[in-house]
Amino acid sequence: MWSSPLLYERLTWPEVRRAAEEERVALVPVATLEDHGPHLPIDTDLRITAEICRRAATAAAEETVLLPAIPHGYSPHHMDFPGPITIEWDTFTRYLLDVGRSLARHGFVRMLFVNGHGSNQNLVETAARLVMVEHPETLAAACFYLSSAEAAATIAEVRESERGGMGHACELETSIYLALDPDAVDMAAAVDELGYPASENAYMDWSDGPLKLMPWWSSFSRTGVQGRATLGTAEKGERLLEAAVAEIVGYVRDLLGRALPQRREPVA
Ligand SMILES: [Zn+2]
Repeated sequence: MWSSPLLYERLTWPEVRRAAEEERVALVPVATLEDHGPHLPIDTDLRITAEICRRAATAAAEETVLLPAIPHGYSPHHMDFPGPITIEWDTFTRYLLDVGRSLARHGFVRMLFVNGHGSNQNLVETAARLVMVEHPETLAAACFYLSSAEAAATIAEVRESERGGMGHACELETSIYLALDPDAVDMAAAVDELGYPASENAYMDWSDGPLKLMPWWSSFSRTGVQGRATLGTAEKGERLLEAAVAEIVGYVRDLLGRALPQRREPVA
């Protein structure tokens, strides 16, 4: 009898083989430990991402196997604040690639890296891409939670803040943490800070602007917050969590509906 959600680390090796034979999607949460203002624990990205993946793996119990969350990521520009554990970009990318190639070696042909820390994203995408370069008949995908069109619509409905209010330790992350564990959030210490030097093209919000500019965090934030943390509520958090879980389940089913790639001879 399989547990729900199916936890990779709790399987025996014959069960790992069976999970691969069932063509389950391997879900890999990826985050970081990083300062999140004076009101949120440094595990904000980790806890949120792990919980979204756990709920998604419960909702899609027959279609997934959930790996332990990868706790450390890429945050060098946050190091002026106490707390972050940052992994060099290439070490981090290779580490994720090693996770993916291990899964591929065991026969998993579909995997999804679910990331919850902004500065990881390009590296997570690169690692997923490299898994597919090495294992051409594998689908290795990367995503950031709450970034689909439907999720953006939910964010637009839920938010009270202007653009910039959902950057980091913000209305969005504070709301989700309040929904997960209100006792861990010190709302009396929550502050709003919108110091990022935004322009038409370069701005920070849940989806950033098209011109990518990431100065050292301490150059534009005194508290580590970028956004309106004081607008966080558990009710908003519940809605955002629900949207994130639906989004990840949708991605799992998208991957399951896809044929595996086949390399072919070029035709002139
Ligand atoms: Zn965060």
